[in-house]
Parts: sequence; structure tokens; C-alpha cells
Amino acid sequence: MATVTDAKNGLITEKMKIVAQQEGLDPEFIRRQIAAGRIVIPDSPYRDVKVCGIGQGLRTKINASIGSSSDIVDMDLEIAKAKAAENAGANTLMELGTGGDFLAMRKAVCDAISLPVGSVPLYQAFIEASRKYGSIVHMTEDELFKATEDQAKAGTCFMAIHTGINKITLERLKKHGRYGGLCSRGGAFMSTWMLHNEKENPLYEQFDYLCEILKEHEVTLSTGNGMRAGAVHDATDRAQIQELIINSECAERAHEKYDLQVIVEGPGHVPLDQIKTNVQLMKVMSNYKPFYMLGPLVTDIAPGYDHITTAIGASVSAAVGCDFLCYVTPAEHLALPNIEDVITGVKTSKIAAHIGDMIRLGKRDEDLAMARARRDLDWEKMYEIAIDGEHAREVRNSRAPGDDDACTMCGDFCALKIVNQHYDLAK
Ligand code: SF4
Repeated sequence: MATVTDAKNGLITEKMKIVAQQEGLDPEFIRRQIAAGRIVIPDSPYRDVKVCGIGQGLRTKINASIGSSSDIVDMDLEIAKAKAAENAGANTLMELGTGGDFLAMRKAVCDAISLPVGSVPLYQAFIEASRKYGSIVHMTEDELFKATEDQAKAGTCFMAIHTGINKITLERLKKHGRYGGLCSRGGAFMSTWMLHNEKENPLYEQFDYLCEILKEHEVTLSTGNGMRAGAVHDATDRAQIQELIINSECAERAHEKYDLQVIVEGPGHVPLDQIKTNVQLMKVMSNYKPFYMLGPLVTDIAPGYDHITTAIGASVSAAVGCDFLCYVTPAEHLALPNIEDVITGVKTSKIAAHIGDMIRLGKRDEDLAMARARRDLDWEKMYEIAIDGEHAREVRNSRAPGDDDACTMCGDFCALKIVNQHYDLAK
């Protein structure tokens, strides 16, 4: 039975108990939040999936996105990236390939890892239409729903589905314009198809049919953010907010009528002073559904370092209520990420998630333990607590100190050592 149905019926499932244990919370709290639509546990009846709770009151989770492109199609590379993301500490993985054999690629990735896997089924439907008919605009509505079903059967646990792009959203977008265009592939595909065919978005118009498919295969709906800004100057504009209104209505219907687990996606490129507004808008409008922030990048002028601009935005987002962060790699806006980019993206996002949790959940025990280990010059303890202890060890060892206690930063004049030798500050 669907997780939400169980929760609404008062049943605490094994997976709810596992989430409660992982988070140090009462299982009844997890059940109530799932019943209210505020926590999800993405799962699939087609594969064994690592249990991961996302939402209100839980630690901030991070997603790594991988996938081939039309230029680089390499199944082994994608599998290696998926494994690298899992080993680096990602909580979920989105397989967003747009090149090669979609289903074979996704199946291979699902088989290689145990993380919950997400996807965007409309990529497949539009790109297959492009291959078959010569243009994305010739995709049929049946092909869109078939791709959704095929991907669910391949083991996808959550799907980004662009329900919020309807004719009204598009009107808002065209009227207002954009400095930075439209950066979402899903948004670009769907809006182009709608304008060419002069039709409503099938994912919006036939939303009930979509929910039935997702329910049958126990897929968590992640309402796609096709209108997100691709430039900080376009953040929080009318098209983005219009899409959020529609997505919030769809999210409510999916949860109330179909007992679906639902996540609401958010932007994108957002200047630091608009992050809190965005998080509050998303949370209040969606009745506190788990909020999945795609980034956000807080400036547009640092290509090559966009994992850092994202970590700054993501840490603020998590601090003010965002539950789920999509990583950004150093290759963002420049190239398809390689394995090293994926690992860097995951580790950077883990730092942002922790910074957010320090504020939102008051999780500061590890920082206190690190403070004491530093004071005591206990290097093994520091490596144990560090988000990336192996990296920390490598850096110190690469410039090894003459004195084992200190490091080569201050050498003989290590402030901590001098104080430890002369008086006691320990507490
Ligand atoms: S040498 Fe300087 S930087 Fe290194 S542990 Fe001591 S005080 Fe810290």
C-alpha cells in the first residue's frame, strides 16, 4: 500500500521506523508528517532502495544529478559517476541522461547503486520524438505518459514532472520577458511544444491520469520548476511565481486525492536577499511540502566555481527551511560533469546542508567536538569528525610538520600548543 495511505491510516511502517532512527526522532512524528504531506520517503516497488526521509524536521538531504548528453554518451562513465556520488555521501541521485539509450542507461544506474533515483520523463519523450519525427514539437501525448510509465518500471523513485507550465504561466513568461532566457530543459521542451501545437500542457490537463500512473508505480511526484530563472536578474519573477501557484495546487491534489508523496521544486538562480522570500513562499503555498532547491546560485559571474556560489545559497536556503538540495558541480554552465566534478559537487553540498542544519535544527554537536579536538591537537579525532577527513589528512601530510602535534601553518609557534603548555582553557 502507498506510504501516504499507510500514514493516513495510522500505520507506522518499517521504513518510517528506519527514518525515525536515522534522524533520532519519534516514529509517530514521521508518520504524522507523511500523512500531512510534509515528509516523503522516495521508494520503488521495482528495486531495493536505501531508506531516505526528506522533509520537515529532518536533516537536509542532497541530490547529485548525472546523465549523458547528446555529445557524450558513455554508460560506464555514468555508472562510475553514480557510484562516486553514492560513495561521496549523496542521499539521492537524479539520472537525467539526454543521449543514448535512455532506459538501458537508467536501468544500469539503478542496478549499480542503492540510492533513491529520480528522473525527468519528459526528456525521454521529447528527445525520442526528435529522433523519430525530426522535431520535439511532434511528440504525442501518449508518448509522454508512456515514457513516465517506462521510467517508473525501470526503478525510478521520484520524478520531476512539469505540471506547472500551463497557458497562463506561458502568458506571464512572454509578457514579462527574461534577461537570461529559460534555463530549464523541461521548461524549454514543454513551452515550445505548447506554443507550436497551440495546446495545453498534457501533464497539467491530464493531471489525474498522471497521478494514477505515479500511484500505480509508487513514484514520488516532484513538481518541476520549468520556469526557474537562469539569471539572478530574473529571480522571483511573475512566471516563476505563477508556476509555483499551479504546482502547489497540483501538489495538494496529488497528496489529498491520490495519496501520492510529493516534493515541490524551487529555483534556480536567486540573489542572497531573495532566498528567504522564495523558501517561505514555496513552503506556505504548498502547505509545507518537502522543498527541493535546485541550487540556488547566488551570482552569475563565477563559472568554474558554481559549486561554491551554490553552496552559499544552499546553506542559507537550508537554514531558513529548505529540506532538499540539488548539488551543482564546478562544471555547471560549462560542460558535462566528470567524476571529479560529481565528487566535488556532493562534498560541497554536504557542507551547505550541514551549515543549514546548524541553524534550522540546531545540529552543532559535531562542531563542538571539532573545537575540542582542535584545542587538544587530536588530529585523528579531527579527521574522524571532518566532512571529508581523508582530504584533510592528505592536505596536512602533503606539507608534514617537523613537530607532530602542530601543522606547518605556524610550526613551532602553534598558538594552541603554546597555550596548552602554559595554562588550561579546557571546557
Ligand atoms: S600550527 Fe597554527 S594552524 Fe596549525 S594547529 Fe597550531 S595553531 Fe592551528
